[in-house]
Amino acid sequence: MANGCFVSPEEIFGEYVFSESVMKSRLSKATVKILKQTIESGDPLDSSIADEVASAMKAWALERGATHFTHWFQPMTGITAEKHDAFISPCGDGRVILEFSGKELIKGEPDASSFPSGGLRETAAARGYTAWDCTSPAFVKEGTLYIPTAFFSYMGEILDKKAPLLRSVEALSTQALRVLRALGNTTSRQVTATVGPEQEYFLINRELYNERLDLLLTGRTLFGAKPPKGQELEDQYFARLRSKIVDFMHELDSELWKLGITAKTKHNEVAPAQHELAIIFDPASMAADHNLLVMEMMRKIAKKHGLAALLHEKPFAGVNGSGKHINWSMATNDGINLLDPGIKPNENAVFMTFFAAILKAVDEYAGLLRLSIASAGNDHRLGANEAPPAIVSVFVGEELQRVIDAITSGKDYIDSGRVKTNLGVSSLPVITEDATDRNRTSPFAFTGNKFEFRMCGSSQNIAEPCFVINTVVAKVLSDVADSIEKAQDPKAAAIKLVKEYITAHSRVVFNGNNYAEEWVTEAARRGLPNIGNTVLAIRELKVEKNIAVFKAMGVLNEKEIESRYEILLENYLKTINVEALTLIDITDRQLLPSVLEYAYTLSEIAEKAGSKTAKARLVKLNALADSIDSALSQLKAAVEKAHGADTYQTALYFREKIVSGMETLREAIDEVEPIMPADVWPVPVYADLLFRV
Ligand code: ADP
Ligand code: MG
Repeated sequence: MANGCFVSPEEIFGEYVFSESVMKSRLSKATVKILKQTIESGDPLDSSIADEVASAMKAWALERGATHFTHWFQPMTGITAEKHDAFISPCGDGRVILEFSGKELIKGEPDASSFPSGGLRETAAARGYTAWDCTSPAFVKEGTLYIPTAFFSYMGEILDKKAPLLRSVEALSTQALRVLRALGNTTSRQVTATVGPEQEYFLINRELYNERLDLLLTGRTLFGAKPPKGQELEDQYFARLRSKIVDFMHELDSELWKLGITAKTKHNEVAPAQHELAIIFDPASMAADHNLLVMEMMRKIAKKHGLAALLHEKPFAGVNGSGKHINWSMATNDGINLLDPGIKPNENAVFMTFFAAILKAVDEYAGLLRLSIASAGNDHRLGANEAPPAIVSVFVGEELQRVIDAITSGKDYIDSGRVKTNLGVSSLPVITEDATDRNRTSPFAFTGNKFEFRMCGSSQNIAEPCFVINTVVAKVLSDVADSIEKAQDPKAAAIKLVKEYITAHSRVVFNGNNYAEEWVTEAARRGLPNIGNTVLAIRELKVEKNIAVFKAMGVLNEKEIESRYEILLENYLKTINVEALTLIDITDRQLLPSVLEYAYTLSEIAEKAGSKTAKARLVKLNALADSIDSALSQLKAAVEKAHGADTYQTALYFREKIVSGMETLREAIDEVEPIMPADVWPVPVYADLLFRV
């Protein structure tokens, strides 16, 4: 492929997307208008136009080879779910016609009984249904028309990751608009959360991947000794792309472009075999869908190229894991980026108000942000000198730091041009975009005109962190609006709040090295939470303040929070359980037999050839085999005993007993691997996986 069949991105971009321009060319003007209003307001679609939209969509999809349609949704486990229905409908005379009604477009009824509901569906005694999310466009992929949807129980409780995102987007828009209005903006009608994710992943040889049951079943290697070469030479980051990888990336880009996904930047990452793909930002709901498609296409296209794309947070111990940076900002429908400091001081009041509100939100709801990216996989990364620690803090850069210092000390602000600004009521300093000042270690960094949330794991659905950020920021903005709407001089009131918020929450600001040991101590001194693992993070859903913020913003109700608490704990313990059982299986059926086989060979050599070396190796090998066997027995016993008084206690047991049991067994295995002959060791080793791509 490569250069031979190059197609212009312009030609193929959005070819398979039922986009606004497609709508305009295929729907009546009146219908387009209603549809656009619906998309902007987030209201349910007017059923009077549903049939027209569905029929246009069907005709368009058939032209692109579609025979089926599916309501595509994002359940609480796994990535996405879909059930395909053919468009066909019998006419009674042995023939079929192709049909797709407005009703089918708006609402679907997947047999939802085996999706996790954390007790919600049982109480509602009903199946779930999916509802079209028209803020994210429909598309055709592999002969099916995909309709992005949110997933609810019949009682209207949400069962997925998309619905809370949609609710949070609305809450954020409402509250941000209130603040903007109070500050004199009369033109903007809507505020969207804009989101641009950067996706890290590994690509390894598919044949080798297939030989590792742990990769197949858990997405990560559960054992593997340190290879002779890792990432210490630092020769991989931004290195030239190898041709096999180039071909893969080229096809990936093209397929993503066809789906209207703005794949933009690709490069090699720090670890061997690690890469990154960034897309240009979209409104949050679309960004979440697009990122899910990016992950799916990576897996699929890798397979075609004899590769396996690993999206797990920590596929290999000893080299960097993979994360996902979430660039986040807020924009008005008339094109104002609310986190752009701008060059005019009066715009600055808006910027400073939103900035201070975010600072307060991040400090007050650090626990929820921590929870939003908690997973068994991410537990391996956070705080491991490759990802930010589990402590949530904000990087603001030098210039904003000086503004903060001036505010908290009550002194004048001196900008880089040495101009003094009195931070009185009417004036705020001009802050320029500062692209040079980067701190890659910060979990929540201000990068010029947006924040970058860097704690998210690579395999995660970004809908979760996005809906949490939207919700907590919306809440603080609603407080701001409550207080400045009533004020005689709203701008002065806002600036007063900016000072108040910054003074109260500057403890969350940290511009130093987040990987340093001293930061952990310093953060503790400041009273910032340091939530060490997923199980503890899930506990945040029991904290009154956190429950209150979801309720106040209409994002999750109490029942929904309770169900999520159960589901998250169950997801965690099931993940660890599968890992433990997989490690047990591989040790029992592959590793120990090969060790014993080699021990037998050595004993024969020692005996028959009288080899001292063989004898010495044998002694060592037998001892290591014994320690593997004993760690294996202990892990088995721990798994068998695994239960607790409730889901939380059971999850905690898995975290404390099973995770450490797996680590002990891994250590024993990793000690024997380097002395096993390459042709006897039954699985590919790290050097093969990382370097034979
Ligand atoms: P860098 O990481 O070097 O700052 P960019 O500035 O190009 O790189 O942005 C990285 C990601 O941030 C891209 O996905 C980009 O689309 C996204 N991004 C840029 N501006 C915004 C914004 N206003 N809101 C959300 N994401 C944004
Ligand atoms: Mg990056």
